[in-house]
Amino acid sequence: MSEITGIDWTDSTFNPWWGCTKVSPACDNCYAAALDHRTGGDHWNGNLKTLSENNWSKPFTWNRKAAKAGIRHKVFSGSMCDVFDNAADPALRERLFETIRNTPNIDWQLLTKRAPNIKKMLPADWGNGWPNVWLGVTCEDVKHGLHRIEHLRQVPAKVRFLSIEPLLEDLGELNLTGIDWVIVGGESGPGYRPMKPEWAESIRAQCDQQGVAFFFKQGGGLRHGIKTLNGQTYKVFPSLEGAAA
Ligand code: SF4
Repeated sequence: MSEITGIDWTDSTFNPWWGCTKVSPACDNCYAAALDHRTGGDHWNGNLKTLSENNWSKPFTWNRKAAKAGIRHKVFSGSMCDVFDNAADPALRERLFETIRNTPNIDWQLLTKRAPNIKKMLPADWGNGWPNVWLGVTCEDVKHGLHRIEHLRQVPAKVRFLSIEPLLEDLGELNLTGIDWVIVGGESGPGYRPMKPEWAESIRAQCDQQGVAFFFKQGGGLRHGIKTLNGQTYKVFPSLEGAAA
C-alpha cells in the first residue's frame, strides 16, 4: 500500500483490499498476517478490509509520474492480500482490473498462491494478456508449488514469473517452459525455516540453462539474509522485448 517498498523487485505495492487466509506452508509465517495482527486487525479469516479512496488514487499518481518521466513503474499487488482470493469481493477485483486498464505506464505484478483461480478470474477481454500485467505464482515446495506452475503456464501473459520465496526445500528438476522470470529468497524473521544455498543454486543453474531471468532476493535468516548467492549478485529482470502482448 505504500509508495516505497522494501521489496527490491518492485517499485511500489498496491492493495485492493487487506486480508487473506493461509493456504499452504509458504503462509505459515505470513508477514502480512503478523502486521495486521500487530496493528490491531483481524483480517485473516475471510473478514477482509476495504481501503480508502486515497489508496485507490495512488496508482493514478504513479502512472502520471511515470508518464512524465518517460519510465515504467513496477507495482506489486498485493502485499497484504492475494488478488485471486475466492473470499474477496469480485467488485473490488473488477475495480483493480479497471485501475490496471487505466494505468498503462505501470507494469503490474500480480502474484498468487491460488493458481487455479487465475484463468477464471481474469477479465473477459484478457485475450493474449494485457501488455502491462505480469502474472506470477508462489512456489515454495514441490507439493504445493509445482502444480501452480502448470496452471500459470496455461494462461497467456506478457510476463509469467515464479516467486520461489520462501524456498523451503530442493525443488529438483524444474520445467521452466513459458516462464520469463524467477525470484528466489529464503525466509526471514523469528521461526524462519533455513534455506540451503544449494537449493537456490540449483534453480539459478536451471534458469541459466533454460534462458530464464533470475533474481536472487536474499538468503533468509533471523534478520534479512545475505543478498548474494555463491558470492555473486543476481538481480536480473525479464526482458520485455518480444514478450507476447
Ligand atoms: S497467500 Fe500471501 S497474504 Fe495470504 S496468507 Fe499466504 S502469504 Fe499471507
